[in-house]
Amino acid sequence: MMAYVHPPYPPSCLTVVNRETLFPIRRIFCIGRNYAEHALEMGVTPERSKPFFFQKSPDVVVAQHRWQDEVVIDYPPATADLQHEVELVVALGLGGRDIAPEQAERHIFGYAIGLDMTRRDLQTLLKDKRWPWDMAKNFDDSAPIGVVHPMVETGELLQGAMTLSVNGVERQSGDLAQMIWSVNEMIAELSRLVTLAAGDLLLTGTPAGVGPVVPGDRIRATIASLGHLQVTVRQQSTYHADRAG
Ligand code: MN
Repeated sequence: MMAYVHPPYPPSCLTVVNRETLFPIRRIFCIGRNYAEHALEMGVTPERSKPFFFQKSPDVVVAQHRWQDEVVIDYPPATADLQHEVELVVALGLGGRDIAPEQAERHIFGYAIGLDMTRRDLQTLLKDKRWPWDMAKNFDDSAPIGVVHPMVETGELLQGAMTLSVNGVERQSGDLAQMIWSVNEMIAELSRLVTLAAGDLLLTGTPAGVGPVVPGDRIRATIASLGHLQVTVRQQSTYHADRAG
């Protein structure tokens, strides 16, 4: 067998609640503007003509492990406006392509609470230039995600309150039932664009109330029946080349 130039990276994983198992992540798909009130606060008219998607890389996930009370993320460079977006994360346990919406539920393994952290100022710049959003969305520590709750325990999540507070002050609140594109419709649409597989995560959009955080802030996100996710933002630590990777 050929030798590796450097050691292969272990898979990025989420922890499954109450089980001694890990959920290895394959790809991460995010939907844009999936709650009308959030689309409006972004200055666009909500529409149902066609959903649009973007991606994050598995290595930008900061996973909550079952023994942790909180996860800690670094404040990223190249922004003065890092914003929070609380989202339902759907973890797929079964892949496929051309999945019918009415068949999509059987592809879901479970759910978690996640944050789609966004360098909003950079995103605005990229939008203005009609350049890809990647550097506004897909950067180190941009996806803190809680433990996975298997659907066999939660049932299918079609509704339920979601909130996000910063330092105890509520910023975002909404309900899963307010999604413009349902989870099943998202799975169906995505499966017409790419071949989905076990391990894929879907970040399903955020309700209104997004806003900035600064180092030292404590974020608390809740979604009904999934408990809460506690995230602390810290000043970016010093870069050490020998620890990178
Ligand atoms: Mn988002």
